[in-house]
Amino acid sequence: MAIATINPFTGRTEQEFDAHTDEEVEERIAQAHAAYPVLRAASFAQRAEWMNRAAELLEEDVEKLARIITIEMGRPIAGARAEVLKSARGLRFYAENAESFLAPELLDDPSKVGASQAGTRYAPIGVVLAVMPWNYPFWQVLRFAGPALMAGNTGLLKHASNVPQAAIYLDTLFDRAGFPAGAFRSLLIPASRVEKVLRDPRVKATTLTGSEPAGRSLASIAGSEVKHVVLELGGSDPFVVLPSADIEKAATVAVTARNQNNGQSCIAAKRFIVHADVYDEFTGLFAEKVAALTVGDPLEETTDVGPLATESGRDELEQQVADAVAKGAHVRTGGTVPDRAGWFYAPTVLENVTPEMRLYLEEAFGPVASVYRAADRDEALGLANGTTFGLSSSVWTNDADEAEWFIDNMDAGAVFVNGMTASHPELPFGGVKDSGVGRELAAAGIREFCNLKTVWRG
Ligand code: NAP
Repeated sequence: MAIATINPFTGRTEQEFDAHTDEEVEERIAQAHAAYPVLRAASFAQRAEWMNRAAELLEEDVEKLARIITIEMGRPIAGARAEVLKSARGLRFYAENAESFLAPELLDDPSKVGASQAGTRYAPIGVVLAVMPWNYPFWQVLRFAGPALMAGNTGLLKHASNVPQAAIYLDTLFDRAGFPAGAFRSLLIPASRVEKVLRDPRVKATTLTGSEPAGRSLASIAGSEVKHVVLELGGSDPFVVLPSADIEKAATVAVTARNQNNGQSCIAAKRFIVHADVYDEFTGLFAEKVAALTVGDPLEETTDVGPLATESGRDELEQQVADAVAKGAHVRTGGTVPDRAGWFYAPTVLENVTPEMRLYLEEAFGPVASVYRAADRDEALGLANGTTFGLSSSVWTNDADEAEWFIDNMDAGAVFVNGMTASHPELPFGGVKDSGVGRELAAAGIREFCNLKTVWRG
């Protein structure tokens, strides 16, 4: 894929970028490697000062960066701005909490292990390679970079090829904030050149946020190198609505949960599983609200849904819906490619989706919702857990026992009750099954790329 900014609203290529040469990549790996001992030796207080400055820079640049997001991948501008500010908040969170998350722990009774003192401490590991997607071009990267750098690691970023301006900004952000030069570097390279970087002995671990095939490929290379890997992959999250729920509220939130970021969020609710007793009420309200969304220019403040980020992504979604319709799915609203420039797909609600349709098992990475009818909570759970994914989930009920039952039995990395899934710096984030391994955010996220060192003193 060319490394280029191609505006999804117009389909026009705005700017192309040359990939880094092998020499440039080597220089950048060397910089990150050289910065590591310097950053490792810096105190948490010093790292926090730099990290807070990076957050300030993001806030100062919010308008410029929001525009980059919107031009490069089509996110409506209000959401783009919110993404930049959330990223700044994530950096501040780690500036404030990294030291306590990584504080040494001591056994209460070291005599049990024959020691005068024994316990653990967290040490950084070196250069970590992050392979990142375009869908949240700042937040995805910075939720990795914040904890990585606060732990004393340095980072290399291979960003998605369609968000090069975001990658170039991130290349210098941490230098500008005061971190040792090269503590974080972007590599402008295609996916085919990731393997060589990962096999470099100076690169100690890797993380990928993106599709399942990319994750499997990276993990197999990391496995052959015995390097730690964290994977944040796709999802087809269930949104379960039960009779005791506030149906009006569930339907309103469902619209955002499915369509935010033009439907291109890993944790978007994609399958709406509704109890038969409230199916008609929920589906009617949901379809009505989806049909009322404003689709248009993502630079307009009032736009709810913009174009999909790539032409191939739009085409894939169109084919998934066509497959479902050909096999008997009912289009409640949408289901068309609007007759206009740009890579738009109409916000869509489908019913009667059955197992022989692609949408039953595949992730729909765009504004297409499938609604399923469940006779009871067991059937709802079976549908919810019935895909290979297990990222997050949302359950709507005002029955406390029922909520508890779903929390216990949902095969997912998270369960949100009476609310939509969102990522928060304070809460761990990640999936089970084919949605990934490992966790980002909170204490778990910063510990992923640390050496948990056991210390025993006689
Ligand atoms: P993608 O095609 O997998 O791309 C993600 C990144 O991986 C890009 O930088 C891409 O580079 C690179 N890449 C692709 N194939 C690779 C390979 N074989 N080896 C190494 N790197 C490779 O995914 P996407 O289409 O950008 O993103 C959408 C997917 O990401 C969806 O499935 C979504 O659910 C998932 N996602 C998951 C999370 C989460 O936290 N779980 C968050 C956001 C998105 P190029 O651009 O150069 O191809």
